[in-house]
Amino acid sequence: MNIFEELESNIRNYCRTFPDVFQSAKGSKLYSTTGKSYIDFFSGSGALNYGHNNENIKSRLIEYLEKDGIIHSLDMYTVAKEKFLQAFRSIILDKKEYPYKIQFCGPTGTNAVEAAIKLARKVTKRTGIFAFMGGYHGMSLGSLSVTSNHYHRQAAGVPLNNVTFFPYPGDNYKIDSINYIEQVLIDDHSGIEKPAAIIVETIQAEGGINIAPIEWLQALSNLCEEHDILLICDDIQVGCGRTGTFFSFEDAGIIPDLVVISKSISGYGMPMSILLMKKQHDIWSPGEHNGTFRGNQLAIVGATAALEQWEEIKFNNEIESKSTLVQSILVRDISSLDFNIKIRGKGLIWGIDFSQIPSKDIARKVRDRCFINGLIVECVGRQDNVIKILPPLNIETELLSKGCEVLKESVHEVLMKAPS
Ligand code: PMP
Repeated sequence: MNIFEELESNIRNYCRTFPDVFQSAKGSKLYSTTGKSYIDFFSGSGALNYGHNNENIKSRLIEYLEKDGIIHSLDMYTVAKEKFLQAFRSIILDKKEYPYKIQFCGPTGTNAVEAAIKLARKVTKRTGIFAFMGGYHGMSLGSLSVTSNHYHRQAAGVPLNNVTFFPYPGDNYKIDSINYIEQVLIDDHSGIEKPAAIIVETIQAEGGINIAPIEWLQALSNLCEEHDILLICDDIQVGCGRTGTFFSFEDAGIIPDLVVISKSISGYGMPMSILLMKKQHDIWSPGEHNGTFRGNQLAIVGATAALEQWEEIKFNNEIESKSTLVQSILVRDISSLDFNIKIRGKGLIWGIDFSQIPSKDIARKVRDRCFINGLIVECVGRQDNVIKILPPLNIETELLSKGCEVLKESVHEVLMKAPS
């Protein structure tokens, strides 16, 4: 038995699906101690949009470390934070006149979701939250309460209250959920009270690459406005450029009241999370959502360097052309293998849905085959039926094609063996 199995808790997860010992990584490739290399179509579940050990970001971090830049400072004013705020304003907010203020939250995504939920409750003086089936928002109690996965919910050990779930577009329920929510809100016998907020992902990533249509997002935003409910967009996984624009809701032209950002914001895979709130909703009293590790300065320095990429138009265009490339390969080479395979995606998040194939566990088998063949992909969605493709946004085109080739071979190998 190795030290990991001997000493590390049974909670271990990704190491079971990707059983190797990793040592180094560069760009879109990881290397293990055995010398085996893997193409990364996982990107730390969205935390590595700019690739592993990105040179531009790394040099800024090294420079900062060498100058003995302050690393820990709670939420005191620092030069690093000042530069980040200036960059965030000029590169992201001012471009589209987004009316947001920024809250630095505890290091990971779930803490910013907690802050969003708390703030919505404080602003509206209501307790309920509406969330969507298939949604994933984190593992601490508030975030877990709005996460739909039963496996994760049962681990809470306490009732997860004050949340009502509604079907998400394209899922198994096939109902017009906007209309349904509207009815619930106006029906004086619905039994469901008006919530403080509705929390939504524009694309459910962990939920199976379910994509909300633009019109649906617009209708949701209108509904929230009409009923004075705050709209929280959880852009933790599909923000920071994953869909081709910095925020995933830009195409829809909506301005959610609260936006949660984490994962790739630091640019280098370091923990950082922020909550954006419309100015009028910033009614926090000082320190009401405190935390020792809010504002990890090194993460903030990385974040500032990462934001600068968004000044280059080339960066956006490349995501678009890579998106087209992935789509064409998946449709031509993979969905053509079986008409029950469904492809969904946008920007550089794509899903191969095997749920309609009668044999069980196809996606898990494909993921395992990919790993043997040197490609890292994750399974998501109900019964893990969807392969999620999430390469770094700056992956070289050649490597992207090569990864898709491995994927195709792996799907082929699994389908050949699967009982029909
Ligand atoms: N929201 C979404 C959409 C996520 O994908 C995740 C992480 N997978 C979270 C929240 C939670 O973030 P963290 O794991 O950093 O707490």
